[in-house]
Amino acid sequence: MGLLTPTVAMEKVSDISPELLREMGVDAILLDVDNTLAPPTEKEPYHDVQEWIDEIRRAGFAVVICSNNYHSRIRPFSESVGLECVAMSLKPFPFGFNRAKRKLKEKPKAVVVVGDQVYTDVLGANLAGMQSILLSPRSEEKGWSIHLRRRLERGVRAKLTIMKRGEPYVHQ
Ligand SMILES: [Mg+2]
Repeated sequence: MGLLTPTVAMEKVSDISPELLREMGVDAILLDVDNTLAPPTEKEPYHDVQEWIDEIRRAGFAVVICSNNYHSRIRPFSESVGLECVAMSLKPFPFGFNRAKRKLKEKPKAVVVVGDQVYTDVLGANLAGMQSILLSPRSEEKGWSIHLRRRLERGVRAKLTIMKRGEPYVHQ
């Protein structure tokens, strides 16, 4: 298993069930924002996101937002969905993950990183020795840098099995 391979691949965040997280043995989630919880430039989350966050927290999992985007974008968004956050987290470097973990009330047994990018979310999780769930990007993206990264991701994504909610857990 390479540094670019996620533990699990799924289409969207609401496909992640409490049962899956229990099978993975994690008790805390570090959540990306852009293209994971909301379209990159929009204040409103995707229609299924708030319900999913509430479900996961009710099931006892700790959730903290960990994004590479600016404070001005991430703070108001996190407040609107009721979560603590770390902005400018510099994924794939571990600094933001460490700051996010310190925001958890209890020390987690194991953490999973959830996000839509191989070279930030998945690589960062693997470098930090954490599990990861890679999602498919949900919104159209603009800018040369993201198009380049998506092109670089293609080979990794081509090998992944996309798991659906309720399916038996398949480790990539
Ligand atoms: Mg993202």
